[in-house]
Amino acid sequence: MTGVNRPQYGGSEPERQEGQKHNSNERVDSNAHIDIPVLFDMDGVVLEGHGTDSIVHSRALDDVLQERGMEIGDDLRPALETYEYTETFVSACETLGVDPAEFYTARERRSAKRSIERIAAGTRTLCPDAEALDWLSDHTTIGLVSNNYDPTVAFVVDHFRLDAFGFVRGRDLGPDGFRRRKPDPHYLEEALNALDTSEGYYVGDRETDILAAKNAGLDSVFIRRDHNADVTLNVEPTVEINSLEELIPIVTNIA
Ligand SMILES: [Mg+2]
Repeated sequence: MTGVNRPQYGGSEPERQEGQKHNSNERVDSNAHIDIPVLFDMDGVVLEGHGTDSIVHSRALDDVLQERGMEIGDDLRPALETYEYTETFVSACETLGVDPAEFYTARERRSAKRSIERIAAGTRTLCPDAEALDWLSDHTTIGLVSNNYDPTVAFVVDHFRLDAFGFVRGRDLGPDGFRRRKPDPHYLEEALNALDTSEGYYVGDRETDILAAKNAGLDSVFIRRDHNADVTLNVEPTVEINSLEELIPIVTNIA
């Protein structure tokens, strides 16, 4: 989108880092208000990295087993340390004589705790273009809707001081939260209800994000970064971008 009118960022200039320059000849009305909310996926869009590492779930399983003084055979491990709530997970729990939903929720609670510890230790950083969120939030409501665990998403917002978001939601722990993850529109619809609107943009880096946006009746924005540069989509997004900064002229033109 180089060459498209790019507005000067407004609002939180004191928080800008050195070296980030904006061309004052390319500004739009800094008071312009856009009524359409812009919702964002978190992993790979706002926060670098694709999501929670699978080792986290494996260690989380060990935590739960240790807590309960349980031991399992190697044959059951693959089923119980997977991210997904599968038939195999359920039957492995039945073999162990534990309630599958309760056991899955307990493991996810530990997965969330461990993922928070990893982020707190500095394993992941904000995407460098996340500063565009500040400009957007000065002009419209922005929200964060993620398939990541709700406690992890809340931690990320607090840890990185992402105060620009007016709505923040990760998925609940447990089987219901798993089933309601994207492409199910459940949490996007929850965001729209909370923001009292039926339209908006959803910005994501996976096909499931585009599908979820369509399922929720939203315009979809697919962001290509290094990790998904060569992905072929089987569903067409409303628009594709390569940087969050490209959202600024897009939402401004719509307004
Ligand atoms: Mg993502």
